[in-house]
Amino acid sequence: MPQVRGFGNRWAFYSVESGDKEAPRTVFDPEILDPQTIWMRDGHCRAYPAAVFFPSDGAGVEIARRICEDCPVKATCLEYALDEHIDHGVWGGCSERERRRIAKRRRTAAALTVPAAAATD
Ligand code: SF4
Repeated sequence: MPQVRGFGNRWAFYSVESGDKEAPRTVFDPEILDPQTIWMRDGHCRAYPAAVFFPSDGAGVEIARRICEDCPVKATCLEYALDEHIDHGVWGGCSERERRRIAKRRRTAAALTVPAAAATD
């Protein structure tokens, strides 16, 4: 079974022509999702070309973000991208830069957290 770690959705779904060459869409391929990535089948992005989620400018990021806005697996998607340290693309409605900021905030918060055992010593 092919691995879908890394670019997840972008590998888990493949583009097909819908008959209209101007309207490519993606379809779910259940063969390449595992229990950790099965949520991807519910993502709104599966109805769009993968390139939409790898924008080259801010306007493109905004387009992807709008698609993610009411996606039912948005939170899971964002956590997946953070856990897997995915550097590219829009995931969970966040750009690479936004994910770096979130990861940095979490690292800082974790470093400032005093372990319970140490606090009682
Ligand atoms: S949050 Fe965005 S990138 Fe993630 S699954 Fe949903 S539509 Fe796709």
